[in-house]
Amino acid sequence: MFFVFGISSKEKKLDFTQTIICPNCDAYGRLEAFMTYTFFSLFFIPIFKWNKKYYVRSTCCGSLYAIDKDLGNDIERGSKSKIEESDLHPIDTGYRQRFCTNCNFPIEPEFQYCPRCGNKQ
Ligand SMILES: [Zn+2]
Ligand SMILES: [Zn+2]
Repeated sequence: MFFVFGISSKEKKLDFTQTIICPNCDAYGRLEAFMTYTFFSLFFIPIFKWNKKYYVRSTCCGSLYAIDKDLGNDIERGSKSKIEESDLHPIDTGYRQRFCTNCNFPIEPEFQYCPRCGNKQ
């Protein structure tokens, strides 16, 4: 008798979406929750999971947030249907500060012209 076992990591999408005004890009977007975990499997059947981590991604700009484990647990069980903005811990907001190509003044992403020198970006 021999055993086939392994340890793997996986990402699982949770049954959760929430329409929001994105805290990152101010567009209407959706939050989607997923979790990652490590699991031990025997004969390709997952026996137990650990190291669960929960994340939320916004569909508009793809920014990524970590959420607390308790909140993630609730979402996974379906007992939580709303995430507050204060629950989101930004990991990768994909936001890169732009600077004017002429005078290096920091420019909002939606600006086409530099507010300081008027240079077109
Ligand atoms: Zn966004
Ligand atoms: Zn400028």
